[in-house]
Amino acid sequence: MIIHEMSRQEIKELLTRASIGRLACAKDNQPYVVPLRFVYNSVYLYSFTTVGRKIEWMRENHKVCVEFDEIDATNSWYTVLVTGRFEELTNAPEHVAERNRAHELLNKKAEWWEPGFVKTIIRDEERPLEPVYFRIAISETTGHKAVKTG
Ligand SMILES: Cc1cc2nc3c(=O)[nH]c(=O)nc-3n(C[C@H](O)[C@H](O)[C@H](O)COP(=O)(O)OP(=O)(O)OC[C@H]3O[C@@H](n4cnc5c(N)ncnc54)[C@H](O)[C@@H]3O)c2cc1C
Repeated sequence: MIIHEMSRQEIKELLTRASIGRLACAKDNQPYVVPLRFVYNSVYLYSFTTVGRKIEWMRENHKVCVEFDEIDATNSWYTVLVTGRFEELTNAPEHVAERNRAHELLNKKAEWWEPGFVKTIIRDEERPLEPVYFRIAISETTGHKAVKTG
């Protein structure tokens, strides 16, 4: 097996195909990672969720990292890391156009709203169903691919 860097084009293609990313955020030096659906449009990653730990943490610390992968086997895989900044798309007039764009892009994927909006009972408390659209402004992407040899 050889590990290569992915080209910019390969990274863009993987992000366009991908739907599930692992979002990492941090607060007070404590990392937190959750799987989430994203859509990519060359500049931003867009997502939809409800208020909970990740949103509370990202509102405090905007720095995030998202991992995407396509893994066939331990010697045949692609992984892309996106580093960026959390930007919430609120109901404020200055966010309406971007919020609509996020909705439009996410709407192309079947049942995109379901994981974010489904009622979850955690420790007997029902989570508040406050919808949140947000985007990750991408500052860096890196990609590695493992290719079988012999
Ligand atoms: C394939 C896939 C796609 C998903 N897509 C979305 C999406 O598009 N939008 C969306 O809102 N959610 C999605 N989810 C669910 C998501 O991973 C989170 O569970 C959810 O968003 C709640 O995160 P939170 O930080 O608000 O947790 P909270 O509701 O605040 O709960 C916090 C507590 O629950 C634990 N916890 C939270 N999530 C998980 C988890 N996934 N596994 C184990 N423990 C957990 C935390 O450690 C903590 O103890 C998806 C999950 C999967 C598997």
